[in-house]
Amino acid sequence: MSDNVCPDCQSELSWKDDGYYCDFCQHTVKKHVFCPDCEHEMEKLQACGSASYFCNFCNELKSKSRITIRFESV
Ligand SMILES: [Zn+2]
Ligand SMILES: [Zn+2]
Repeated sequence: MSDNVCPDCQSELSWKDDGYYCDFCQHTVKKHVFCPDCEHEMEKLQACGSASYFCNFCNELKSKSRITIRFESV
């Protein structure tokens, strides 16, 4: 099962242009990634096909398995 679900209707999100999109609510959904240690929003770094996350507050890379993901409809 996918982790990418709409915060409003819980349907699976589709990828459109450069963001997530809910076909049912017909709105764009923004993905936010938070640091597991300080809860600040993190930056996604794309390197050679694999994504990693960098926390500007802790000033270090965080493991993908520990991050907190939240979806927000915009
Ligand atoms: Zn929806
Ligand atoms: Zn942090």
